[in-house]
Amino acid sequence: MRDDFSQSVKDLLGNRVGWKCSNPNCRKPTRGAGVEKTNIINIGVAAHITAASKGGPRYDENITVQERKSFENGIWLCQSCSKLIDSDEIRYTVDKLKRWKDISEQIAVLELEDVTVLKNDKDAELIRFYVQCFDRPAFRDRICMEGRMEDFDKAIEDTIIALNTGVLRTRDGSILKKSEGKSIIASPVWREKLDTICDMLVALRKRLKIAKKEGAYSTYGEGEVMYCFYDRNLEEWFDFTREEILKILSSVCEEIGIHGLYFPREPHKW
Ligand SMILES: [Zn+2]
Repeated sequence: MRDDFSQSVKDLLGNRVGWKCSNPNCRKPTRGAGVEKTNIINIGVAAHITAASKGGPRYDENITVQERKSFENGIWLCQSCSKLIDSDEIRYTVDKLKRWKDISEQIAVLELEDVTVLKNDKDAELIRFYVQCFDRPAFRDRICMEGRMEDFDKAIEDTIIALNTGVLRTRDGSILKKSEGKSIIASPVWREKLDTICDMLVALRKRLKIAKKEGAYSTYGEGEVMYCFYDRNLEEWFDFTREEILKILSSVCEEIGIHGLYFPREPHKW
């Protein structure tokens, strides 16, 4: 009579070690996708620490049937390690197997935490780079203070490219810094915010194009060119949209604990 584990005990044993072999020197994955969509390949074994039946390896007659079938008496191993531990009882003692189980459960948790920390660090690094991209007159000054509208448009285009590719070009076309595009941001919330910012930047460029066609603004002055918008609402829209963009960006900065950017650079005094 074998005191086998129930399915739920087997699942718990595997789950708690991330379905990897609990021999710390092995750590082989034991589960993967089968060819059929619903199929799972399993090469793992819920092994008994003290044998399931009399005469088996490390059999302990002093424990109850319930204890023998319990989670405490099991260890998740790959097939070769499960054969290994049963082939040498002196080498693979009850204490040793319990230590393996303990260590593997701890490693499984550490692996989870590690990945999260790494991803957050990477995200924060990318956000810092993007903030740098926005720290320029095109996003910090009111539209009435802009120099050439072509430069304004180019600055927005460069920022869209920087968000999408991680490459920030300066106004003379040289590459200022290379990072990575927003698509690799791990946090879905941050990625969505950056996507929204990108859409708003595209809208700014489109609106500027229409404004130019319609002659919504005129230039005056020699050398230091100034702009005059005939449409006050449009002028306000350009400022309001950039203010909103920086607000969204700054909400991400706040979560990372770095300074955000504000529009306009200096609070306007009326
Ligand atoms: Zn193994």
